[in-house]
Amino acid sequence: MTAELARSALKKYFGYDDFRPQQLDIVEHVYAGRDGIVLMPTGGGKSMCFQIPAVTMPGTVVVVSPLISLMKDQVDGLRAVGIRAAYLNSSQRGGESHKVEQAYEGGELHLLYVSPEKLLSPGFFAFLKRRRVCLFAIDEAHCISAWGHDFRPEYTMLRQLKTAFPEVPVLALTATADRLTRKDMGEQLGIPEAKQFIASFNRPNLSLEVRPGQKRREQIIRFIRDRPAQAGIVYCLSRKQTEQLAEKLRESGYNAEAYHAGLSADRRGKVQSDFINDKTLIVCATIAFGMGIDKSNVRWVIHYTMPKNLENYYQEIGRAGRDGTKSDTLLFYSYNDYTTLKDMISGSGNAEIQLAKLDRMKEYAESLACRRRILLNYFSEDHSDDCGNCDVCANPPKRFDGTVIAQKALSAVARLRQSVGVTTAIDVLRGSSRQDIIKNGYDRVKTYGAGRDMSTYDWTQYFGQLISLGYLYVAHEDYNKLRLAPAARRVLYEGETVELVKFEIIRDRKKLEQDK
Ligand code: ADP
Ligand code: ZN
Repeated sequence: MTAELARSALKKYFGYDDFRPQQLDIVEHVYAGRDGIVLMPTGGGKSMCFQIPAVTMPGTVVVVSPLISLMKDQVDGLRAVGIRAAYLNSSQRGGESHKVEQAYEGGELHLLYVSPEKLLSPGFFAFLKRRRVCLFAIDEAHCISAWGHDFRPEYTMLRQLKTAFPEVPVLALTATADRLTRKDMGEQLGIPEAKQFIASFNRPNLSLEVRPGQKRREQIIRFIRDRPAQAGIVYCLSRKQTEQLAEKLRESGYNAEAYHAGLSADRRGKVQSDFINDKTLIVCATIAFGMGIDKSNVRWVIHYTMPKNLENYYQEIGRAGRDGTKSDTLLFYSYNDYTTLKDMISGSGNAEIQLAKLDRMKEYAESLACRRRILLNYFSEDHSDDCGNCDVCANPPKRFDGTVIAQKALSAVARLRQSVGVTTAIDVLRGSSRQDIIKNGYDRVKTYGAGRDMSTYDWTQYFGQLISLGYLYVAHEDYNKLRLAPAARRVLYEGETVELVKFEIIRDRKKLEQDK
């Protein structure tokens, strides 16, 4: 198996002349019998990395995928170009699956798609061993990690694969995995040494913008009016929101439909195909919309409310501008949305990790630095240049000499012996007479009341900046108490000045304080 063979298969089956960056490296890695972890954005061409091995290597590639609803489409698409593919999952009748099993045993299949439940069902490994598996491709592999945003307990059983088939290479593929999730993925799958292939997540044609979440419907209508005849998606948090917004847009003369999991399968199919065929221009959807649809001319994506994490956000804005043409994204943010999501998450399993991810999402929304840098840094790409295509770059925040603010904050933390969190530190600065503050004698520290002139909200922002600038850090392992970083010393004792930024993204501060 050679690069030449791979290239001619790419041409023969898919009609493409060249591999995208990384694809050929990954295919050759598989040819060499090695394990790999592939991180590529949705639409980046992950599937090709196991489809080419499937049609060029002896044996069958077994693809494990949790997305049962997409299996049929994927298999149909492959068959249409002459690739012998089939799938096995719980939705099939016995006769149907029997035929697939026979095809596998007869060595007729290039690719066999299976759900994790099917793969781990009794006797299935033995069945696979009757013939030759040349590669296990684990799609949506982040589902195996509790660090991921979409943890599926049944995926953790996949660690049995490497033990049962030590000689078969494993390729774990995902579009969404931060550094920790990737590391965990490798460990969970029993391939901790696997080489990682990370494609760029940068989508320079997507503009990034965050606006305060006020008068959202009016803002959305203005946004749409400025983009006549452009297809777009508005992601909402609830079914009710999608329906109300779609109705409001129709009232204003726009061609909009709602899409959510509560609609019948027929209705959902219709909304989806009308959107793909440009019959419906705007879809107001919950996150269920867009999985597996390949529409290249979506010109904008709006988030009516903030997603739970940057993985979801990135995936959803990524549905715009697939054709590489300039497209716009807009996120509405308010502190209220944050607390709503926080409450939703707190009741769910795995809450601690999900809350940490939500905080990263909030930091992004509140950011005073180039948003693309934050986003790409999250996906482990080190981008040190500002992008020039986000609202922060377009409108850089004004900096001012915040040395006095920093001195007050840092000295409060020092005098409180680094044993309180942000809330208490701020309450002390603002001279709160809260019971436990008096009880602990915090009203006798020298900085008590020294920050009365600023609101709690402003103080929270400035503490946030002092943390990101590296003067303070939060001891997560010790009740989130604030600690002084070495740099704080320079401010407190050596006359170092500190530049802070006025927080202007949320202009209506009064409103925000009330929201809290
Ligand atoms: P992913 O699985 O990462 O979401 P796919 O493998 O489905 O992405 O690929 C997305 C699209 O890109 C498909 O239409 C596919 O045919 C196309 N594609 C993949 N590799 C190439 C390539 N080397 N050249 C041109 N198009 C490609
Ligand atoms: Zn930028």
